[in-house]
Amino acid sequence: MALPLPWELWAELPVEKRIFCSVLLFSWAVYLWEAFLAHRQRRVYRTTTHVPWELGQIMDSETFEKSRLYQLDKSTFSFWSGLYSEVEGTLILLCGGIPFLWNVSEKISGRAGFGPEYEIVQSLVFLLLATLFSAVTGLPWSLYNTFVIEEKHGFNQQTLGFFFKDAIKKFVVTQCILLPVTSLLLYIIKIGGDYFFIYAWLFTLVVSLVLVTIYADYIAPLFDKFIPLPEGELKQEIEVMAKSIDFPLTKVYVVEGSKRSSHSNAYFYGFFKNKRIVLFDTLLEDYSALNKEPSEESEDAEDEETKSKVKNKKQGCKNEEVLAVLGHELGHWKLGHTIKNIVISQMNSFLCFFLFAVLIGRKELFAAFGFYETQPTLIGLMIIFQFIFSPYNEVLSFCLTVLSRRFEFQADAFAKELGKAEDLYSALIKLNKDNLGFPVSDWIFSMWHYSHPPLLERLQALKDSKQD
Ligand SMILES: [Zn+2]
Repeated sequence: MALPLPWELWAELPVEKRIFCSVLLFSWAVYLWEAFLAHRQRRVYRTTTHVPWELGQIMDSETFEKSRLYQLDKSTFSFWSGLYSEVEGTLILLCGGIPFLWNVSEKISGRAGFGPEYEIVQSLVFLLLATLFSAVTGLPWSLYNTFVIEEKHGFNQQTLGFFFKDAIKKFVVTQCILLPVTSLLLYIIKIGGDYFFIYAWLFTLVVSLVLVTIYADYIAPLFDKFIPLPEGELKQEIEVMAKSIDFPLTKVYVVEGSKRSSHSNAYFYGFFKNKRIVLFDTLLEDYSALNKEPSEESEDAEDEETKSKVKNKKQGCKNEEVLAVLGHELGHWKLGHTIKNIVISQMNSFLCFFLFAVLIGRKELFAAFGFYETQPTLIGLMIIFQFIFSPYNEVLSFCLTVLSRRFEFQADAFAKELGKAEDLYSALIKLNKDNLGFPVSDWIFSMWHYSHPPLLERLQALKDSKQD
């Protein structure tokens, strides 16, 4: 008797088994692809032990070696954490973890009858348990990352107490947003009729606009301290630059990023005529905690939670460089990158809700994940958005990465038009050094992952434009 061929076996499988296997296989395919890229990149870290000649001008060998070891540690860590989460996800699917948790939620919520309101209560319990599970299983990884890896390389500024307080706060705040938003969304899907996907999309659009509006004023301050940038030269220069490009600036803040970690950054936010700029203290030479003398350390109670480590490590940028970095950031605004990103993400969200509406009635999708009798809406959202759309999500995220690199070059060119090419050039070098970025990368790895072009390419582009 001849053995059946693999595709004959495949064709004989019931459709729900085929869906389940495809989801699992695709997830492993993505995992293996990324593991392969990370392996290539680790090889670059391991073998590039000397500063390449084209970098001789911009990076000393001590910094180069430091960043090489840091990136190598990070990459090894993400190998193990990635393997763990892939295996965990697979076991959850294979052992029927989702229907199991759904049944547990049913017992806890004491569902006595049928109807949308019971299902919504049960869904909220399910969501709470699922997020709790993922927070708890993620905790050891996050602890190791912060207190072993970041600590070893001098980036960690948190104490254990601060870390846990922060994690709990984050969990509570997330639930306060997630649970009401989800219950309203489920309700809209239930009562929306044939065109529920339009209302569901409009609802998520409103929610995201509201979140963007309140995030900086009400949510971010729960976690970090924001202080207005004091009057002075830097503030004046920022205002002049904003005015010169018609940026409707209302306030400039400094955020104590150094309490969390010392990676530096800057961003702007706000709608229409009410825009604000936020600078991380680690970006500013004059504010960075690492640059302060021990005697200058403030003595208020908040600061006792932070390790007062002084590493005698000068970091941050000079005022002109900060302005150049801001010139780049404001370039994103002036060139409409922010708006383009919002439009793309909303078009994507509309498309996803539309496809969701097409697919939600398919019982085999639910059966594939162990739901034979009931088709709860929340589970449908999870299955379709997370598992069924995953090939589409991969493609989309790659396209967005490519687009983001384009935007970065354009924003750099904008800063150059403001006459800031030279300052941006030196700021990029300093920021790369402060963050221990490694300037050499495998080409496929960088093409797949880097939302910002590699340092050398950005510097080259600035140099080219400096000459015209
Ligand atoms: Zn940018």
